[in-house]
Amino acid sequence: MTELAPDALLAGMAGMIASGGLEVVDLTHPLDPDFPVIVLPPEFGQCARFRVEEISAYDHRGPAWKWRNFTCGEHTGTHFDAPVHWVTGRDQPNGTTDSIPPERFIGPVCVIDCSAEAAADPDFLLTEGHLRAWEADHGEIPADCWVLMRTDWSRRRGADYLNMHGDGPHSPGPDGGAISFLVHERGIRGFGTETIGTDAGQATHLDPPYPAHSILHGAGRYGLQCLRDLDRLPARGAILIAAPLNIRDGTGSPLRVLALVPRAGGAA
Ligand code: MN
Repeated sequence: MTELAPDALLAGMAGMIASGGLEVVDLTHPLDPDFPVIVLPPEFGQCARFRVEEISAYDHRGPAWKWRNFTCGEHTGTHFDAPVHWVTGRDQPNGTTDSIPPERFIGPVCVIDCSAEAAADPDFLLTEGHLRAWEADHGEIPADCWVLMRTDWSRRRGADYLNMHGDGPHSPGPDGGAISFLVHERGIRGFGTETIGTDAGQATHLDPPYPAHSILHGAGRYGLQCLRDLDRLPARGAILIAAPLNIRDGTGSPLRVLALVPRAGGAA
């Protein structure tokens, strides 16, 4: 493959986006008061839902303009987890949203399709064995890439999304071996899911508890959750753009996650 000069590469990329040869896929849910947030046991503090209030709407409060105030948690809606979100990552350098180098917000992505397994078992756990089977089909997961776990969970609505039962939430996620393999043997940049967290609903019972949060953030890696439409991405070959808000000392933030996806055959 011929190496392009950076200016030619960027001009080519802009042209490919304009022509549709590169598709821009939006992997985010709208920020909406009805979208569920994670629910912790009642003795703990809780994440706020998205709320919006009108300041003015071309009226006596502001005759020529419309604007609104919004409030939400750092971990509301489709959002980014920074290393300091978890106690294991509290001392990581560049561990907050405002200190992560910006080049970390753009990078390659591998997608592990677990949709059939998650449909059959809401408590499905992704293991190192599944990842090695994926690698047998698609090649080794490269260092410093995002790994996203596709479950089609983003198609669920209402109470089915959290899937809360008497013993807590039931949703798929990785086990400790899978995350340890991705972080320590493959050197990934981060891990993302379509569910409310990077960990499975019942991850309090895993070893370590909440392995995605514990291992990823303890190693300075990032999380993405409440993603949607991961079925629109290829197993590999797309580029992810995931830039959290520049919140001072932020532990995470809602964000727009975009994927640049090569369209087979070029422009439509
Ligand atoms: Mn979070």
